[in-house]
Amino acid sequence: MRILLVEDEKRMAEALSEILRQEKYEVDCFADGLTGLAAGESGIYDIIILDVMLPEMNGFELVKRLRQKRIQTPVLMLTAKSELEDKVTGLDCGADDYLTKPFMTKELLARLRALGRRNIATPDKTLAFGDISLDLDNATLCCTQNGESVRLSEKEYRILEYLIANSGQILSREQLAVKIWGFECEAEYNNVEVYMSFTRKKLSFVGAKTQIKAVRGMGYELRCDYV
Ligand code: CA
Repeated sequence: MRILLVEDEKRMAEALSEILRQEKYEVDCFADGLTGLAAGESGIYDIIILDVMLPEMNGFELVKRLRQKRIQTPVLMLTAKSELEDKVTGLDCGADDYLTKPFMTKELLARLRALGRRNIATPDKTLAFGDISLDLDNATLCCTQNGESVRLSEKEYRILEYLIANSGQILSREQLAVKIWGFECEAEYNNVEVYMSFTRKKLSFVGAKTQIKAVRGMGYELRCDYV
């Protein structure tokens, strides 16, 4: 698996590259946004790790340009601040996940494994529920009633995939956090709510009648009462 790392802090870049190489990833590292963009546009990478504050072009702009050019390589943003606003900006620009500095190596590697899995094809390429369908190949949500579709981030896709696979059941925040992020950690529970709201926006964007219902004190359930 080949990783593009765009990070201008030399020590951070070296430390990260070293860790990733130990984990058998191939790593190319660039220290400014423009060079990073050119590398990302080559389309040869499986995952892109992107710092936000970069010389020449910041990480938000970089990922936006990649998505405009239809480069769909999963992007993990490294944000210096933990403010929701940064996460939202990054995800709006087309990033798939974010990690706040400083972070644990274990956490980084777990996120990379999750992003890497997106590129592995499975025999079941379409999932459907109510008036929605999910296409694994291009991570797209489609409303089967009107044909509208939208691209999902990796997390949004996995949330819907998990909800569809367990339709008729209420899934707790804890279950979702463990399933989507792969490990138990209190801080991740807030992420579930953040991504749940993004996922709901995508459902309403395509005009789907299928909804993610919050069941007070219990969790979430996928419901479609109208089809
Ligand atoms: Ca930086």
